[in-house]
Amino acid sequence: MDYVSTRGKVKEIGFMDAVLMGLADDGGLIIPKHIPQVTTETLGKWQQLSYSELALEVFSLFIQDEIPRNDLKELVDNSYSTFRDPAVTPLHKLNDELYVLELFHGPTFAFKDVALQFLGNLYGYISRKTDSIIHILGATSGDTGASAIEGVRGKEGIRICILHPHQKVSKVQELQMTTVDDANVLNLAVEGTFDDCQRIIKELFADVDFKHRYHLRAINSINIARILAQTVYYFYAYLQLSKENKTDKLNFSVPTGNFGDIFAGYLARKMGLPIHKLILATNENNILERFVREGVYEPGAFRGTYSPSMDIQVASNFERYLFYLYGEDGQAVSTIMQQFKDTGRVVIPADKLQLVQADFVGYSVENEESLDTIRTYYDKYNYLLDPHTACGVAAADKITADNEVTVALSTAHPAKFDESIQLRSIEQVFPQQIQALFNKPQFQTVVGGTNNEIQDQLEKFF
Ligand SMILES: *Cc1c(COP(=O)(O)O)cnc(C)c1O
Repeated sequence: MDYVSTRGKVKEIGFMDAVLMGLADDGGLIIPKHIPQVTTETLGKWQQLSYSELALEVFSLFIQDEIPRNDLKELVDNSYSTFRDPAVTPLHKLNDELYVLELFHGPTFAFKDVALQFLGNLYGYISRKTDSIIHILGATSGDTGASAIEGVRGKEGIRICILHPHQKVSKVQELQMTTVDDANVLNLAVEGTFDDCQRIIKELFADVDFKHRYHLRAINSINIARILAQTVYYFYAYLQLSKENKTDKLNFSVPTGNFGDIFAGYLARKMGLPIHKLILATNENNILERFVREGVYEPGAFRGTYSPSMDIQVASNFERYLFYLYGEDGQAVSTIMQQFKDTGRVVIPADKLQLVQADFVGYSVENEESLDTIRTYYDKYNYLLDPHTACGVAAADKITADNEVTVALSTAHPAKFDESIQLRSIEQVFPQQIQALFNKPQFQTVVGGTNNEIQDQLEKFF
């Protein structure tokens, strides 16, 4: 399978180069040249597969001969054997119309493990095959950093440095990152905000000299391998429910901020998975929901919410969707993105808006509503939602019609966001792996927010 850029100015590259490139060299995002098609017959054959077996089939469609099947199988098996649940992403039934797809059984208790366990192993594989060192540099508001570090800790040929805003991530998130003592991990706690961290990363990656000297690689959510890994659980959930004849009108409700997770669902549908409604759930940072409603994409004022991993103004994966909305026309995407850069907004015409509204139904969840949803489901089903999942569940409640079944994606374990859950007077018992973090020593270097300081640290580390 070849890969191209949404802006049409990168010559076709293979899968491994696509993973290494991260952001496309023309400023666009990498996408597969063709979307592989999965027939009803194939879905039938896949019905009995385990999660890992299914992941192998889905990845094979996108990778083909570039990684021999046995190698790919080993990568996949290693990636999902670290999950605590044998089903990897089990479905939890709340009632006849609503299921929760639990994506948080990986090492860091958030759904990012599904993709980053695989990407970590893939980087290790590429490092061995190409006999090169991989230096990963990333910024995090919490979940991505912990998950990326878990994905590569202790791996030969890989070094990772993660910037997080000092004392501005949740306690559990901080501990997950900083209690890792492997020599290939460097945690820099930056005196500043997440935006400062992102800006520094962006500028260091833009310093071509520096980037090439250290073979800097990215782990952020624009990496195509992450999207591909996330399509698997849409298939998995569908196949489980098809055994119970529940797939006539099967919706997915997806709490999203960067448009990554929901884009994976869109891609699964484009591959032929019969998804009825794709429900796009946002918190009060509702840029994407407004886009679906009005056809205007315009970042507004930042709102701090109880679902901080969705507190995002510029959805970095949005451009991938634009590419398909505009008939895979890279020139059109370039023009729109240039307009966005110049004016800070994208406005699409009425005929395009109709297409968007056929693809997605949007719903944005207010802060109090997200906590109320947690309380309601706890009382009614004795099931504890985290605040991100609660956004997806609240949207599912609003949008699901008669004779429809909705799968709400659960993106984090509630223990990660205990501070918010306590606001509704709910006490939870932490899983033992999280509890154990509180007794471990922390390893992190607190630094000021200047590029020079960070660069010095990196030069010592790499
Ligand atoms: C990253 C994250 C999200 C948002 O993911 P997108 O890729 O932006 O859709 C939602 N919930 C949690 C817990 C996350 O960590």
